[in-house]
Amino acid sequence: MPEPSHDPAAAILNRRTLTRIVATIGPASESPEMVRDLIEAGVQVFRFNFSHGTLDDHSRRLSVVREVSAEVQRPIACLGDLQGPKIRVGRVTAPGIELLPGQEVVFRRGVETAFLEPPAHPEDHPRAIFGTTYEPLIDEARTGHRILINDGAVRLLAIDRSADGNDLHARVIVGGLVTSGKGINLPESELSAPAISDRDRECVAWAVENSLDYLALSFVRTPGEVLELRSLLERSAPADPRADLGNETATLPIIAKVEMPQALRNLESIIDAAEGIMVARGDLGVEMDIAAVPVAQKQIVAACNRAGKPCIVATQMLESMITSAIPTRAEATDVANAIFDGADAVMLSAETATGRHPVLVVQTMNHIGLAAEDHIASEPADENPPTRLLDSHASIAALCRGAWRIATDLHATAVVCWSERGGTARYLSQNDFRVPIVAYSSSIRSTRRMALLRGVYPVWSRPPASGSLGEWNEQVDLHLVEHGLAAPGQTIVLVAGRPLGIAKVINSIAIHRVGEPATGYRALR
Ligand code: PGA
Ligand code: MN
Repeated sequence: MPEPSHDPAAAILNRRTLTRIVATIGPASESPEMVRDLIEAGVQVFRFNFSHGTLDDHSRRLSVVREVSAEVQRPIACLGDLQGPKIRVGRVTAPGIELLPGQEVVFRRGVETAFLEPPAHPEDHPRAIFGTTYEPLIDEARTGHRILINDGAVRLLAIDRSADGNDLHARVIVGGLVTSGKGINLPESELSAPAISDRDRECVAWAVENSLDYLALSFVRTPGEVLELRSLLERSAPADPRADLGNETATLPIIAKVEMPQALRNLESIIDAAEGIMVARGDLGVEMDIAAVPVAQKQIVAACNRAGKPCIVATQMLESMITSAIPTRAEATDVANAIFDGADAVMLSAETATGRHPVLVVQTMNHIGLAAEDHIASEPADENPPTRLLDSHASIAALCRGAWRIATDLHATAVVCWSERGGTARYLSQNDFRVPIVAYSSSIRSTRRMALLRGVYPVWSRPPASGSLGEWNEQVDLHLVEHGLAAPGQTIVLVAGRPLGIAKVINSIAIHRVGEPATGYRALR
């Protein structure tokens, strides 16, 4: 597929946004060439959407990403996205059933394939009978509850249940085409669907076996559901031979997808339970009044920033680019506004999974992000520390805050840390740095996980045999200059503990001028 040329990118090809770009991988983006170009264009995280494709498809894509990432020597995070309790209509024979306003619809137990039933009165519409992937909805939807199909495009109201309890009757309010497997949302109904389905369990096992870097859970309602996934992960994690070295986090970090009103009510406790949050605007916009979504986005991002947890803003960010070579003005503004709100990452779904211009869409997102970040950089820095992080991890958070103060006052070009397990990188990343955070680790897994963190450039490296900070400092100088992250003579701030790589306590900050690569400074000795 030829990519249209992209003129504005020429000047900024080597610049990456501090905001991370998450791209969903799919049929349009799974070739090694495409994955390489996407990484080159600025993707740091690939999302594997378990709602589509088989585990074989995901395995094939995962090997491509891992191979290319090793080849280009850039740590890339892979995020698996569990479908959770998503309800869908059962099979509908192509080309689907067109529902008309006023028509009666029946959700019936045991229906494999939807069909039309002749009406009682010849002048009426035929009744449409559907099966679903969640039969208890027949008991759990109450009279007057909305039943929304295909992201809310087709809208029904529940009327009543048949005497034998097999049928739920509903009336079409807004009509439209219903095809196989379309999603159903029931915003008013209290559903007892388990948070983790059998299919999710298979995907969890696959994710653990293949050492994915993050797992997202859809339709989270309570923090208990996040904990349920964590205990499932703990039970399924294979014994890690390196675990006894104490330098790996035991289980996969969990991203809770906020896409239900209940999750908004439990927001703070869900943020506490998860390692990160996704503002899943697709389902959120169906489950709630769409006018409430922009406000919810601001509240969720702000709550994550206070707690020091990464937040991904997702869905329809550059939707029109699924087909078009340029975004709408509204979409460009949306990407920038997510960054102004304080998002750590912005996400692409169908734009990169099945769209016509996966690489161009990432270049465009990067380009819009850079302009937004340049604007932010022209304004005074945010003086508010991530308060809840300071409450819970006072000393490391304060040290990172100090590094931020110094870097800001001295107009440093970069802040560099040794972050063996990624913690220091995360605390740094939650401060309003306007420069890259270069984070070293000798754990490949940690470097991949760090790729989701705002502003963080993970570097896989072995600590100098001596464990000496001075020796590492020389490596850093060489690396920064080689990668164009700093020039000789520029100021950088270093954060580390001693000895490097195994220190449990990160307790040193140093100010350093990048030396000539051949000589190097030894400011930290
Ligand atoms: P989905 O989640 O694409 O898996 O539905 C994102 C969203 O709902 O926005
Ligand atoms: Mn969703």
